[in-house]
Amino acid sequence: MQYDPRHLPSVPVTQAELVHQHDSILGESPLWEEREQVLYWVDIDRGKIHRFDPATRENTTHTLPTKVTSIARRAKGGLIASLKKNFAFFDPVTGQVEMLDVVEDDQPENRFNDGKVDRQGRFWAGTMNEVHIGKPDAGLYRFEGPGRVEKMVSEVTISNGTGWSPCGRIMYYTDTLRHTVFAYDFEEKTGSISNRREFYSVDPSAEGLPDGLTVDAEGFVWSALVNYGRMLRFDPAGKLERMVTFPPTRGTCCTFGGANYDELYITTARECLTPEQIAAQPLAGSVFRCEPGVKGLPETPFAG
Ligand code: CA
Repeated sequence: MQYDPRHLPSVPVTQAELVHQHDSILGESPLWEEREQVLYWVDIDRGKIHRFDPATRENTTHTLPTKVTSIARRAKGGLIASLKKNFAFFDPVTGQVEMLDVVEDDQPENRFNDGKVDRQGRFWAGTMNEVHIGKPDAGLYRFEGPGRVEKMVSEVTISNGTGWSPCGRIMYYTDTLRHTVFAYDFEEKTGSISNRREFYSVDPSAEGLPDGLTVDAEGFVWSALVNYGRMLRFDPAGKLERMVTFPPTRGTCCTFGGANYDELYITTARECLTPEQIAAQPLAGSVFRCEPGVKGLPETPFAG
């Protein structure tokens, strides 16, 4: 189903509130870590992994010597990450980074972008061309451990939000400059994908782009609509059902967290905003939260 963000249907709206003011360039990859009851998130271009504790409102930061493009939980403790070109393990206690496999070594214009763990514990991360933005020479990779990398989708523009239905048999995948969130049949045992179809798309004549996503406990899909300051919730048939708004126009991604997984955390960005737009949106780059009335699911940790 295609939507024009200038003329969205009338659906229930929740306003998110500011929980952590920050000037991140590209806030991304919000991740609820239930073992610590904190929100991890990244600032891609500055190579920062942030840890926000909602109980104290304290935000602590690690700076890595490379871009950090996505993070996910790891069963053995700590995080798995996609950096600029590498998969990596990261230990937030020691700050130690363990560099793992490289992708697209022969494509110097490309870097990793969003990544997520499937319900069986495999890490999926995709790439983008950051010089020729939108050039369809990026891909989506499945990582099961050192030396176990497989390219699963080719000819991607900007690889972005990925998620799985609660049953695990549907994978949602965002190709941002195709303006589309796709759905695939997902084979849980092998992690293979098939039968790609359009789930939701944005009218290309509008400025809105689909970015990060998460799937809630009811199997509805939350997709960030960049440039419009909205998280859109779709039913499994791709019909817009409700939305969350917040002041910055560049909302990048969202995830559920809190002790009951009933809070939606949202990251935002300053990237691509003019100085005048930043002056008008002083909260761009901050983290927002709301209670939208539905619950999310814990993220499965990376099994390797
Ligand atoms: Ca993104």
